[in-house]
Amino acid sequence: MSFATPVIACTYSEIALKGRNRKMFLRKLLNNMQTALRGLGGVTIYHVESRLLVRLNDETQTAEAATRLHRVFGLQWVSPAIEVPRAELDAELAEDRETGHVPRLTQLCEAACQLTAESAGNARNFRINARRSDRSFGLNSLEIGAVVGAAVFHRYGLPGRMVEPDFVVDVLVLRASVLVFATKEQSFGGLPACSSGRTMVLLSGGIDSPVAAWMMMRRGSRADFVHFHSGRNADEADCAKIEELVRLLATWSPVPLHLHLVPVVPYETRAIGTIADRYDMVMFRRFMVRTAARLARRHKCLALVTGDSLGQVASQTLHNLAAISPDVSLPILRPLVGMDKHEITAWSHRTGLFNTSIKPYRDCCSIRSPRPILTARAIDLLRMSEEMGLEEAVREAADLAVRRDFAPL
Ligand code: ATP
Ligand code: MG
Repeated sequence: MSFATPVIACTYSEIALKGRNRKMFLRKLLNNMQTALRGLGGVTIYHVESRLLVRLNDETQTAEAATRLHRVFGLQWVSPAIEVPRAELDAELAEDRETGHVPRLTQLCEAACQLTAESAGNARNFRINARRSDRSFGLNSLEIGAVVGAAVFHRYGLPGRMVEPDFVVDVLVLRASVLVFATKEQSFGGLPACSSGRTMVLLSGGIDSPVAAWMMMRRGSRADFVHFHSGRNADEADCAKIEELVRLLATWSPVPLHLHLVPVVPYETRAIGTIADRYDMVMFRRFMVRTAARLARRHKCLALVTGDSLGQVASQTLHNLAAISPDVSLPILRPLVGMDKHEITAWSHRTGLFNTSIKPYRDCCSIRSPRPILTARAIDLLRMSEEMGLEEAVREAADLAVRRDFAPL
């Protein structure tokens, strides 16, 4: 009789390096995994020797569960596996030793053969990659590899190959069980969602800021979003694309995400006739950052996040970045600041945001005057702010913000 059962074996990344806070991070990670697997029937998660083993009542849900776990920040590898209890293997090994039989490892061989039948595809050779987390097992890694490898060879005629094999079966010996798995999917690492405070992300319809949001979410922050639109009110503004981006980002989050839609009219009405064309871009950015900071305080966010990348466009020259927000005391996090556009685009693809990001959208930043100043000075911007009444524009805009909520899928 076989007691081998399917599980999903997950490893976590940076949490392993944590000291006293490790427990808190692990608890968050476990909660987030439970939330991601909601609705899949009975799910049990065990913490075993630096691994999280997920057991499902309904085995047919394994693939769906693995896909969902792939979106849980903090996990490094997610591998559907077969778990074989140690008790039976140990007893069989003892019996083999007593009777002088060669070690059989019946259940491990069965599991490896099953995985080979399911996943080897057109592989022309294979390797058993055995490791022991618990070294009290009766055989060492090489011996385990030899026994299990021979079984696969006899059943399928597949030759073993140590270097660059087409197909690998991993065998990992733990204290109470042995895991056998063939597919190892790398997840995105990072820290568990909502483990490091809230941020207010300035979200445009472009490629950069959604990636910036994702990166900060991966570091454990809970994101609120603010988007500035040129409609008279949120219903008139066509923000479907922005909403779609937040909905996509919400699939990485265990909690609902909030989007604050803010009209730019309070800025426009005051800037016309006061702000020279070439200063309009930097002053408008100042308006956005100041308003976002005001909303951030209102919603208990500890930092702002933007998709700025140094020198990418006029508003992102070092001079302008330095001049735009001298009076904003919240930290402004710019996770993309040192990245090239092609690297940011690659992340946009990897995170599934790209196809939405390239949909046509007239962002209010893209309709500003051409030839903006590249070397603004803070002192000039502060003076212009007084002249145009920026403070009132910020207050008025923040008060007109409309909130939309996006539940995780
Ligand atoms: P993106 O691809 O993120 O739109 P970009 O390369 O187009 O960036 P800018 O238009 O200068 O660069 O915008 C820089 C940053 O300012 C954006 O990454 C975003 O954080 C913020 N931003 C721009 N427009 C808006 C907007 N309408 N609402 C909220 N934030 C915005
Ligand atoms: Mg933009």
